[in-house]
Amino acid sequence: MTSSQSNRHRLGVLDLQGGTQEHLEHFRRVGVDAIPVKDARRFAELAGLVIPGGESTCLRRLINQFDLADPLRAAHADGMKVWGTCAGAILIANDIVGEKPLFQFIDISIARNAFGSQLDSFQHTADIPAVAAEPVKMTFIRAPKILRAGNDVRVLLKLDDYIAAAENDQALVTVFHPELTSGTAFHAYFARQCGLTPAPTPASDDTWSPNAWMRARRA
Ligand code: GLN
Repeated sequence: MTSSQSNRHRLGVLDLQGGTQEHLEHFRRVGVDAIPVKDARRFAELAGLVIPGGESTCLRRLINQFDLADPLRAAHADGMKVWGTCAGAILIANDIVGEKPLFQFIDISIARNAFGSQLDSFQHTADIPAVAAEPVKMTFIRAPKILRAGNDVRVLLKLDDYIAAAENDQALVTVFHPELTSGTAFHAYFARQCGLTPAPTPASDDTWSPNAWMRARRA
């Protein structure tokens, strides 16, 4: 292990736009140290970075405006794993239908807004054996579809005519939002993939509410 890799001891959530606090609240529930990140100097500490859901055009502009693209690429090449949820998945895809790709961390083709408008958002529950023993609840919000995955990509969940979750050794993509449900399986899974040890938590928690991040922020 190089010295820079041994410094990678916590997780980060990109804090420019989108569901940053919701991800931090889920990592807090699995007992994993995670921080909001908007300063490239923090990348050196991170075993993994979440690029959250939000709006990929907006996120792309902010990443460029804050000069984060090259440092983020360099940190990823140095061992920082990246999990893209929804808009984040779009930004790390090798190929975006009709658009220039940004990070190209995973060999997938992805189509934006593939279910229709915001009103075509939906929830779904599925078994994802690689990630959780219990069924996983998922929220799709103006979601993209992954249409193709390359040979070095492991498909974690396929639904109908699209791939909903996939990974390679350095990156994870989900077109849905695990941070908007009570389950913490994906957050525990990503933490483990990053070499961290999440605390065991129940598959779902009836006391959790979508506003739970408001408590996390005050904590
Ligand atoms: N529709 C958004 C986009 O194309 C993604 C939506 C989301 O992240 N929930 O960027």
